[in-house]
Amino acid sequence: MTLKLEEGQDIYVKKGMVRAEFNFWVGIPMDKFYDGLQEKKLVGNKCPKCGKVFCPPRKICGDCFVEATEWVDLPETGVLKNFTVTNYKVSERNTRKVNKDIIVGLVQVDGSSNAMLIEIKNATSDQLKEDMKVKIVWAKKLKGHPEDIAGFEPA
Ligand SMILES: [Zn+2]
Repeated sequence: MTLKLEEGQDIYVKKGMVRAEFNFWVGIPMDKFYDGLQEKKLVGNKCPKCGKVFCPPRKICGDCFVEATEWVDLPETGVLKNFTVTNYKVSERNTRKVNKDIIVGLVQVDGSSNAMLIEIKNATSDQLKEDMKVKIVWAKKLKGHPEDIAGFEPA
């Protein structure tokens, strides 16, 4: 089909599906973060200006607008900042809905300035409270993937 806009300008429209194979690259900071996970290591990057450490990492410090270039090793512990009970997974877009409720929390890894949204394991909501200490639960098989962190549990 051809649509006429102005003299000499044609737009061609083709209806149908186009199959496009592609890979999405998460960028250097998240790539390095996932490499660390595969070795059972949590890493964050640090803003050279204000000293904030980001875990998960960020390319740019939102306060200083400079690149966070220095890498630091972080412990497997953190603080549960908040949580909720849901029947939707944090990841796995195609199979998001789960049959039983899970707890999803915001965990600030010790030594970092931000928090990650992650499943809270091995606890009921009654056993959790804000600002309690939590520790990482590693997946059984590490693949350099977001799900290498199975979740966090009370420390
Ligand atoms: Zn900064």
